[in-house]
Amino acid sequence: MKNSFEHTLPNEEGYFGEYGGSFIPPQLETIMEEINQSYQNCRQDPNFQDELARLYKHFVGRPSPIFHAQNLSEKYGIDIYLKREDLNHTGAHKINHCLGEALLAKKMGKKKIIAETGAGQHGVALATAAALVGLECDIYMGEVDIAKEHPNVVRMHILGATVVPVSHGRKTLKEAVDAAFEAYLQDPVTQLYAIGSVVGPHPFPMMVRDFQSIIGNEAKVQFEEMTGKQPDNLVACVGGGSNAMGLFTAFLNDENVAIHGVEPAGRGLDVEGEHAATLTLGEPGVMHGFKSYMLKDKEGEPQEVYSVASGLDYPSVGPQHSYLKDLGRVQYGTVDDKEAIDAFFELSRLEGIIPAIESSHAVAYVFKLAKQGLKGSVLINLSGRGDKDIDFVVNNYGQDYGITSTL
Ligand SMILES: *Cc1c(COP(=O)(O)O)cnc(C)c1O
Repeated sequence: MKNSFEHTLPNEEGYFGEYGGSFIPPQLETIMEEINQSYQNCRQDPNFQDELARLYKHFVGRPSPIFHAQNLSEKYGIDIYLKREDLNHTGAHKINHCLGEALLAKKMGKKKIIAETGAGQHGVALATAAALVGLECDIYMGEVDIAKEHPNVVRMHILGATVVPVSHGRKTLKEAVDAAFEAYLQDPVTQLYAIGSVVGPHPFPMMVRDFQSIIGNEAKVQFEEMTGKQPDNLVACVGGGSNAMGLFTAFLNDENVAIHGVEPAGRGLDVEGEHAATLTLGEPGVMHGFKSYMLKDKEGEPQEVYSVASGLDYPSVGPQHSYLKDLGRVQYGTVDDKEAIDAFFELSRLEGIIPAIESSHAVAYVFKLAKQGLKGSVLINLSGRGDKDIDFVVNNYGQDYGITSTL
């Protein structure tokens, strides 16, 4: 399926209502405008869209199916459907925007595409796209994460990317963002910084959303074919918010479709630093080049955040989500670590699908809504598969779920 790139928001300055925009150092302003112009051209260029559609189909394996989870539906008394982004090449939705960004970089004549990564998912997806399109790729990663996420580091090496270790501060995602940004400032001409979600300065929130909106465009047609109707509810987890915007965008004007975003409550909402529930507990502010809800500490700096799902622990959120929250079009709720892990096992054992811990948050939220009396059908965006999480889950939670030996 060819994607639709027709959207009314953001405005020309990149604002969704009062959120978004571009708060960047003066020396980046020209280059960011160039990226914006190039993207606007690509967006209207049938060749660009055809090339992306070809890759989605033959490289990623799109369209991803919708699966009616009948065992779960029976148990919870609502009709549960899964949009299977977990079946994509590289195991999650991230490949959708990485291919788009890599094609854009190529069109702009860039030599290299760079990014930071936390758990390594964005790094692997970008390294994959770079290999395919023929670009150099530098991935900045904290030394702590490099040690923790060894298989993804190996994948990036095999794919020909350079993994740049970041050794200052807490040596995790935040420092990796700083280091990648620093490297980008040194040379914004031959490199493109490929942002990994619907965040950052304009045009990235718009661009990443457009690339991801293939999810909802497919789902709308598929769901209608399967059931003759539109889903009553959509549910997706929200880290930066790209898989959620990907599913939601096609349905935003459908008044009868209720939409839910799910943030991580981590170890609990009452302790600062133990969750990443940005829209639930944050307030508007500016960080990483854009205005949105964010979690601030007493000094007004970004809070430490935590979730059992490393793809969800970000102290801000895509600006369009902030706008949709204020508008009341999307309801945002939370799921904690334990609820997510419960859902991880429940989906695995009732349907034979091992989900990413990130996606497990969306699944857990549906169980919660069902217990509160939600009726009708629910389409969950199953953003990724759980292969990356199995050792962590079994080592930390296995005993609680009857796994006493993994030898
Ligand atoms: C990275 C990731 C997320 C979180 O990112 P969003 O931009 O919020 O979608 C969610 N699920 C999976 C599987 C991921 O890899």
